Amino acid sequence: MGATEVTARILDGKATAKAVRADVRALAERLTAAGHRPGLGVVLVGDDPASQVYVRNKDRAAEEAGFRVETRKLPATTSQAELLAEIEAFNADAGIHGILVQLPLPSGLDERAAVRAISPDKDADGLHPESVARLVMGESGFVPCTPAGCIELLDRHGIEIEGRRAVVIGRSMLVGKPLAQLLLARNATVTMCHSRTTDLPAVCREADILVAAVGRRELVRGDWVKPGAAVLDVGINRGEDKKLKGDVAFDEVAAVAGALTPVPGGVGPMTIAMLLSNTALAASRLAGIEGH
Ligand code: NAP
Repeated sequence: MGATEVTARILDGKATAKAVRADVRALAERLTAAGHRPGLGVVLVGDDPASQVYVRNKDRAAEEAGFRVETRKLPATTSQAELLAEIEAFNADAGIHGILVQLPLPSGLDERAAVRAISPDKDADGLHPESVARLVMGESGFVPCTPAGCIELLDRHGIEIEGRRAVVIGRSMLVGKPLAQLLLARNATVTMCHSRTTDLPAVCREADILVAAVGRRELVRGDWVKPGAAVLDVGINRGEDKKLKGDVAFDEVAAVAGALTPVPGGVGPMTIAMLLSNTALAASRLAGIEGH
């Protein structure tokens, strides 16, 4: 690719997540010694196999970090009232600092009502409207784990955010919108793109930091990327060949970008690490002990 060719630094999400988890564990030990062991409450309804795997991984990671973990496994026949009662019980439990309801819920259950039932002070996934408002208003609160993981990856690799042009492709409540808010709060100049954006490649070429959170295999091509840009690939797409691919054409972009996350092993591992970090920080706020 001539004079502009750059070999991207590959941002190792596995190693970074490990470092975050080690920090969380150290904080959990301090909190436990002070009588405030962090507690995570998890509600899993039904028997969706993917959700079961996610919950098992979260439980294991939380236990490894030294947390108290309480998991309520409820049958698919659970009523809305029974689900809300479980959430209420976690809200009332002073030893639980983070609550998550594994989504999607079986049909017939109201996800929005379930998320709204979680106390905003324990909203580990950061999806409660109060958490969204706190994020936009710049007040401390829970931040959705995947966007928080993106910021942590940039920070831990010394990639400057302030003053830089950031482009986020995707505007979901889970990733794109909160990530744009986090980048804005860190003084990036942020552009949000979506399926109706005109000339997406041209907008992407302006980015110093480009994030793809779309769910379209290898959408972002090498010639969409400014030489030297940091590119975060949030996408998880399983092709017909069963291989996991991101939203970024890895080989093409690695030859142009300055930094790039792989899929798998990039943003993905950061998500659980940030769930633990969110919960430990909530416990430390309550205990009046400074977090990391
Ligand atoms: P989502 O709710 O489906 O949102 C996708 C977004 O992409 C929408 O805003 C959509 O635009 C936009 N979009 C779709 N096609 C587009 C195109 N051709 N050009 C530009 N924008 C386009 O997805 P999500 O929940 O944010 O997840 C996005 C991806 O990240 C998925 O692959 C998901 O599996 C992955 N993910 C990974 C993690 C992790 O831990 N690594 C966590 C969460 C999600 P409109 O709004 O106009 O429809």
